[in-house]
Amino acid sequence: MIEIDRVSKWYGEVQVLADCSTQVARGDVVVVCGPSGSGKSTLIKTVNGLEPVQQGLIRVDGVTVTDRKTDLPQLRAKIGMVFQNFELFPHLSVRDNLTLAQIKVLGRTKGEATERGLRYLDRVGLLAHQDKFPAQLSGGQQQRVAIARALAMDPVAMLFDEPTSALDPEMIGEVLDVMVGLAQDGMTMMVVTHEMGFARKVADRIVFMDHGRIVEDSQADAFFSAPRSERAREFLAKII
Ligand code: ADP
Ligand code: MG
Repeated sequence: MIEIDRVSKWYGEVQVLADCSTQVARGDVVVVCGPSGSGKSTLIKTVNGLEPVQQGLIRVDGVTVTDRKTDLPQLRAKIGMVFQNFELFPHLSVRDNLTLAQIKVLGRTKGEATERGLRYLDRVGLLAHQDKFPAQLSGGQQQRVAIARALAMDPVAMLFDEPTSALDPEMIGEVLDVMVGLAQDGMTMMVVTHEMGFARKVADRIVFMDHGRIVEDSQADAFFSAPRSERAREFLAKII
């Protein structure tokens, strides 16, 4: 579903991605971890073309993201992305947050979009909050709305960039539970996170990055029981 092939990226003189290759098969969950500044956010944003690259090839669901002729807005419409800071529209109600892109980008009627949006809002356990504004919700609730909003677009894959790292500890679980449910339902997911409990539970593979390189790309069990690189061992020792 997602193919990243020998991708390199520089900001000016500084190389932030170095010859990165990995794949995410349909229905698989790949967790990307590694120290701060190692290139995780940059890598995941290359997948929907939010970060252009100078070298290499990226394909999602048969569409070549790195081809200049590719319609990126159209591609992004089918890849859900959830960020650290929720990024809901603050001036719109939860319901309008859920329907806006469905109407504007997918051309659904307001009725269709509402029906669909509320179905996913129900799925993340927040149907009763449809008339509220983002600021009236907790961080965990806002992030669940952001996930519901992405799902309402019928994405072929979901990208998550540290979706729980801005949350108070007591709210992390409710967001991870939603993500575990998605994984178990067969969603193709690429997840930057340091939540290793989540990774152990649902990840098929772990990609470990350091200094812009993919240092390890292993089956999750193998990664946790016997990481190959010294850097990954140190990293795991620190966060577990
Ligand atoms: P991570 O998500 O693993 O913490 P990032 O992908 O955010 O890492 O960043 C990787 C490297 O790229 C870091 O060294 C960071 O300072 C650098 N970087 C990120 N964005 C920019 C930018 N817009 N301009 C220059 N350097 C950047
Ligand atoms: Mg990051």
